[in-house]
Amino acid sequence: MLHVNENYSKIKASYLFTEIAHRVSAHQAANPDAKIIRLGIGDVTEPLAPAVIEAMHKAVDDVADRSSFYGYGPEQGYAFLRDKVAAVDFAERGVDIASDEIFISDGAKCDCGNIQELFGDDVKIAVGDPVYPVYVDTNVMAGRTGANENGRYANLTYLTCDASNGFVPSPESANGCDIVYLCYPNNPTGAVATKEQLQAWVDWANANKALILFDAAYEAFIRTPGIPHSIYECEGARKCAIEFRSYSKTAGFTGIRCGYTVVPKGLVAYAADGSPVELRPMWMRRQTTKFNGASYITQRGAEAVYSPEGREQCRKIIDFYLENGRLMKEAIESLGYSVTGGGDSPYLWVDAKGGSWDIFDKLLKEANVVTTPGAGFGAAGEGYIRISSFNSRENVLEAIERLKGVL
Ligand SMILES: *Cc1c(COP(=O)(O)O)cnc(C)c1O
Repeated sequence: MLHVNENYSKIKASYLFTEIAHRVSAHQAANPDAKIIRLGIGDVTEPLAPAVIEAMHKAVDDVADRSSFYGYGPEQGYAFLRDKVAAVDFAERGVDIASDEIFISDGAKCDCGNIQELFGDDVKIAVGDPVYPVYVDTNVMAGRTGANENGRYANLTYLTCDASNGFVPSPESANGCDIVYLCYPNNPTGAVATKEQLQAWVDWANANKALILFDAAYEAFIRTPGIPHSIYECEGARKCAIEFRSYSKTAGFTGIRCGYTVVPKGLVAYAADGSPVELRPMWMRRQTTKFNGASYITQRGAEAVYSPEGREQCRKIIDFYLENGRLMKEAIESLGYSVTGGGDSPYLWVDAKGGSWDIFDKLLKEANVVTTPGAGFGAAGEGYIRISSFNSRENVLEAIERLKGVL
């Protein structure tokens, strides 16, 4: 008998985005003239930086000629890119991460999803609530959870993130867990974690032989001085943390596909007999077996993100999104709503003062504006909506006028 992996049947159908699409198309069908503005999207809208485009064009020319052709690349990624990552993303911030602790990939979603393969079936896992679904679903597929009941899986620890804790859970709430996924700046809440808060997590992890899986996909949106861009800015993090980075939001690579994962030397998990096992060689083994690298052209494009022009251009694009967020945050707050995020993140997390789907429907029907209901990101997201800053200025200004009319 050909049996399926029964764990897949536990996965709650990702009804969020299908349901949104369904309601939006029903509304459009009933109101053919409505000009709908989509503030729900988690995808970038602006084109790639000119420095990146130029580098990728040049890379295409390289592979067009026998003398400068590139085939399979080095498994961890090209040294030209890893060296820049180590120098700019880490050394410049006073963080000690070596080039050979960096693994270039085709994006952070894949790495966040694949990393769980390195750990035992019995590890106890904690995630935030609301949460980026990848952390949860990949562990469900691997069989580490029970059934989904009322929106939460059995055998998974949910760390509620709400106004009472400033959307940053305390480490004590994860006591008894072996692995915790942290994402700051956060998707969906837009919240950031302070140095003290992250240091407390690192201290907790080291004291409990636990591991932090730190998703820093939105690091480039941080503008507030003192907010860590990397978990490794905290003392002791090399001993207890893996960090994921992505060029998707930082440089508009959502369609190009490139990111990286940092696995420091000396970071360990434990074998059944209690002996430590280094994770870096295991991740190397995993990647060389199942992944054949991001393309040469892509990695040349990512390298250009670190050139003086590339840095300047990418920063301007992010500033543009941040200004969209600032304008929307100011307008929504002036209407009497409390808003998290928007300052160091492309997302605004708005306390809707009612049900997530109720306000979603109200904004869709009365303002022709699409948002994302917070309840779709977890039980603790009920009562909130997520608004994205990834849009044109024209749409943002128009959306603000419409929101003022209905909220
Ligand atoms: C967008 C996003 C990523 C990036 O994923 P890629 O696969 O690199 O495009 C990672 N984590 C979170 C939380 C995100 O929202």
